[in-house]
Amino acid sequence: MAKSFIQAGYQQQSAATSLARVLVVDDELTNLRLMGDLLSPYYEVLIARSVAEARDVLQKQIPDLLLLDVMMPEVDGFSFCRELKENNDTRNLPVIFVTALHDETDELKGLQLGAVDFIHKPISAPILLARVHTHLELKRRTDMLEQRTLIDALTGVGNRRAYDLILEAEWRRLQRKQSCLSMLIVDIDQFKLYNDCFGHRQGDECLQKIALVLSNVISRSSDQLTRYGGEEFALLLPETPLKGAVAIGERAMQAIRDLNLPHAPDTYHSRVTVSIGVACLYPSDKASPETLFLNADEQLYEAKNAGRDRICFHPE
Ligand code: GH3
Ligand code: MG
Ligand code: MG
Repeated sequence: MAKSFIQAGYQQQSAATSLARVLVVDDELTNLRLMGDLLSPYYEVLIARSVAEARDVLQKQIPDLLLLDVMMPEVDGFSFCRELKENNDTRNLPVIFVTALHDETDELKGLQLGAVDFIHKPISAPILLARVHTHLELKRRTDMLEQRTLIDALTGVGNRRAYDLILEAEWRRLQRKQSCLSMLIVDIDQFKLYNDCFGHRQGDECLQKIALVLSNVISRSSDQLTRYGGEEFALLLPETPLKGAVAIGERAMQAIRDLNLPHAPDTYHSRVTVSIGVACLYPSDKASPETLFLNADEQLYEAKNAGRDRICFHPE
């Protein structure tokens, strides 16, 4: 089955549980060695000897926890913490200051900047391990709860909130990459009649089956399926041109026809079918994510007007 945004989130989660990743930033090699030796039996430890090196590490991967020295040449720990909290990608990375400063004002400053804790030098091994463990556990639980708020309870795919977040993030990412983003809106045909005929419970089961089929027609890990609303699903296909998106839509329509689910007697088609609107855009400042949705939705409207059980696409 295709990996959805939500499933990917859970996988990151379980990876974090088995071997959480801790980034240690300190300009003194002896401190790095000490903390590295203490933590590496339990965690994957990344090290950086300066803020510049830490930025490089964070470009590639976001760890689960950051142990940050305060006093460093060039950029100090407080300034770096402020920088991390202002960046969307690193805002939720928990920061523990590790410092020789024992002044109450410094500790308060660090906490006000958003750090979760302070560890004092000279480092006590049991205190370091206990604090790291506690904050990793808190982070794991917070991430798990956050993931749950993004799942549609009925179908298990991403919900509307996930749709909003993914669309926004992919729009920004693909604008930077100057690549395209396709969207398909899939709407079950005459679904109100289906519910009226078979009842709401069977309607729910039908929605689950359609969600499963749709999740199977996407294959790239960056492709995302979400339930946009009632009986409407959105497929977001990054770096997929219109032609490819239409091909996936056609595959989805066929797979749903193949389910061969009987529809209510007084419908156009005797089987459950869907209509699909497709659009593709190169994200830029001239358009917005909403433009992509409106273009796809306009095409869905065309497909409905033209008799349903069909796919319409917005010209590029
Ligand atoms: P069209 O072909 O024009 O899309 O017609 P439609 O009947 O599918 O569209 P309409 O928007 O009129 O009705 C959508 C129906 O989808 C209304 C509601 O009964 C059903 N629906 C929405 N959410 C759910 C749900 O969670 N469970 C069930 N069983 N039905 C739902
Ligand atoms: Mg419908
Ligand atoms: Mg609808």
